[in-house]
Amino acid sequence: MGTIEAEKIINRQRNFFQTGETLAYEFRKQKLTALKDMLKSYKKEIYQALKNDLNKSEYEALTTELGFLHTEIDFALKHLKNWMKSEKTETPVTHKGSKSYIQKEPYGVTLVMAPWNYPLQLAIAPAIGAIAAGNTVVMKPSELTQSTSAILADMIRATFDEGYFTVVEGAKDVSQQLLEQRWDYIFFTGSTNVGKIVMEKASKHLTPVTLELGGKSPVIVDKDAKVDLAAKRIVWGKFTNAGQTCVAPDYVYVHEKVKLKLLRAMKKHIQSFYGKKPLQNEDYVRIVGKDHFDRLHAFLADGDIVHGGNVNDEKLSIEPTILDKISWDDALMQDEIFGPLLPVMTFRSLDDVIGEMKQMEKPLALYYFGETEQKQRHVMTNVPFGGGCINDTLYHLANPHLPFGGIGNSGMGAYHGKYSFDTFSHRKSILKQTTKFDIPFRYPSGRLSKAIV
Ligand code: NAD
Repeated sequence: MGTIEAEKIINRQRNFFQTGETLAYEFRKQKLTALKDMLKSYKKEIYQALKNDLNKSEYEALTTELGFLHTEIDFALKHLKNWMKSEKTETPVTHKGSKSYIQKEPYGVTLVMAPWNYPLQLAIAPAIGAIAAGNTVVMKPSELTQSTSAILADMIRATFDEGYFTVVEGAKDVSQQLLEQRWDYIFFTGSTNVGKIVMEKASKHLTPVTLELGGKSPVIVDKDAKVDLAAKRIVWGKFTNAGQTCVAPDYVYVHEKVKLKLLRAMKKHIQSFYGKKPLQNEDYVRIVGKDHFDRLHAFLADGDIVHGGNVNDEKLSIEPTILDKISWDDALMQDEIFGPLLPVMTFRSLDDVIGEMKQMEKPLALYYFGETEQKQRHVMTNVPFGGGCINDTLYHLANPHLPFGGIGNSGMGAYHGKYSFDTFSHRKSILKQTTKFDIPFRYPSGRLSKAIV
């Protein structure tokens, strides 16, 4: 794609945005409904695409991608009218006679850039917010999940006018070309490194951004945790999508007193979820590509494998694996793992763990397992992270009443539910002044005459 083509796409959308059609509630409602119907009627093709790209089962595709999107669209449809209303605010007595309110205004032409790990959900979910808030959308899916990228392009082309909502497919060069353009908002989900490039490019035009990035999200299992339940929820959160989840537990810090119990319980739950031979399980998600597979495979040399560790390099599949005797110097502890390898480390003092985490980059998520409320609060208050759970993993992201986003290296801004609408809306402050009277003191002559009196 060349500059001229990119400019053409944006100009077409800008012209459409300027007609003002997207401002109406009915228009937005109709487009959200069309999006919902589209996902329903392409369900089969979507399942097939996710199977091709990541070997996702229909169950996993439904629970982590399609089901999530339907909930988000329904939530937006239910609340949209309310969200769009202007908010009345107070006005101080010094402003006597006037009224104030905040009007929600769409930014205009928006760019949504998506990663490969939930290639449908992470492309469409931001678009729901953009549409609800009255923007137009250009979507750039990941080139690593080509079947999903193709089906996104097909179904969006068949459902929407390209001057309103369109998909641009392609790799890094296409992303770079798009990022050279002037956008009114950029919503990016992906790695921290590319997030920095996006922000740099956006700064040229002072374009506001949301950056949904990654990081090493820790799990802490304390000595008073319900260990078997903790193990089950950690295994579920880690190995869903073969660990290729932005908020997947990256590593576990377990109190030394319960370590053996946790390891035993995690092995038991891995077997009950994926069978004794996960590599032969037809529904077990594979690694997205050869480069990612090789990177993860090399990590198996770190520490001791206490469970799993087998790979199938033809299918690009790696067993759910638990690693012990890991240190911060090991290669797999340098960056987000983003695969089905779970290092387990031990602690004695919770405060030491907290101290260590405060020195590190702020992760996207943190999960604490333990029964004492005071300690739960202590961890939640003292470690900075995007969002997380007490006694669970991943669940916070499926609550539309909670904003989802990172902090520091794990990103900026948030979305889901109303937060998506807010993200894609400018809050325009309006003061409506009375013309029935005028207070003289605000004017220089008014002050002067009062001083003279
Ligand atoms: P990525 O950053 O490599 O790619 C994301 C998008 O950026 C793709 O569309 C890609 O084409 C484009 N891109 C890649 N290199 C580029 C470059 N040099 N210049 C411009 N554009 C470029 O990320 P990924 O590998 O697709 O996804 C994995 C990462 O995303 C992980 O770090 C994960 O934690 C993070 N992630 C975060 C969230 C979240 O919600 N916070 C969700 C999913 C994934």
